[in-house]
Amino acid sequence: THFGFRDVPVGEKQKLVGQVFTSVARNYDLMNDLMSFGTHRLWKRHFVATSGVRRGDHVLDLAGGTGDIAALLHPVVGETGEVVVGDINAAMLGVGRDRLTDRGLVAGLRWAQLNAERLPFPDNSFDAVTMAFGLRNVTDKDQALADICRVLKPSGRLLVLEFSKVQSEAFGKLYDFHSFKILPRLGQLFAGDADSYQYLAESIRKHPDQQTLKGMMERAGFGKVEVRNLTNGIVAIHRAYKF
Ligand code: SAM
Repeated sequence: THFGFRDVPVGEKQKLVGQVFTSVARNYDLMNDLMSFGTHRLWKRHFVATSGVRRGDHVLDLAGGTGDIAALLHPVVGETGEVVVGDINAAMLGVGRDRLTDRGLVAGLRWAQLNAERLPFPDNSFDAVTMAFGLRNVTDKDQALADICRVLKPSGRLLVLEFSKVQSEAFGKLYDFHSFKILPRLGQLFAGDADSYQYLAESIRKHPDQQTLKGMMERAGFGKVEVRNLTNGIVAIHRAYKF
């Protein structure tokens, strides 16, 4: 299959993103390790450790996929809290639920197939919403940010971990080489699927940079938006509060 992402109409994009994640679900965790040399684990641990999420919190982990963030959040919120893992893709959710169930993580976790643009929750439901490597795949990001704001409790927080813009030019060149030459080959070699990984590299380049995303959050109704770069801006953490 060739996904041919470059010029597809918006409505089609959602379907294609769906195909990509169904196609990568089984190999998703292995590929993350290969592509990032294991660094994604450190980024995710840092993301949750600095999230400010507390015992008893009700957290929505959006685009939660195979459950990495949920597994880290679960011990933080404890028995009095809850983590809802929401993702649009049933295959990703299935892999995640199996994996966490095998590790004995059942109570305090819920799994919901949903679209981040139209969240099936009442207003003011969550203390925090986390979204790791998910926003970039959402078609209408402004719509998703507005709906995230709606389901957060007043002064609730949004935490986004996402690929962003590399800060130094020299590092950028190396990174481009890795993304466009190495990544699709790794995808072909280990998952038999170069196209999906080509898509991932392209989606990272198209994603709004640090300041643009900050502005989008402010327009969606968030305040006190802070940005922190990790690994020279390969990824950034945005933290924002519902007024
Ligand atoms: N958060 C996980 C992690 O860090 O390993 C998974 C990240 S994975 C790169 C992106 C996830 O976003 C996929 O599981 C995909 O199904 C999901 N996704 C894409 N578009 C979505 C949408 N509109 N609403 C909810 N989830 C979406």
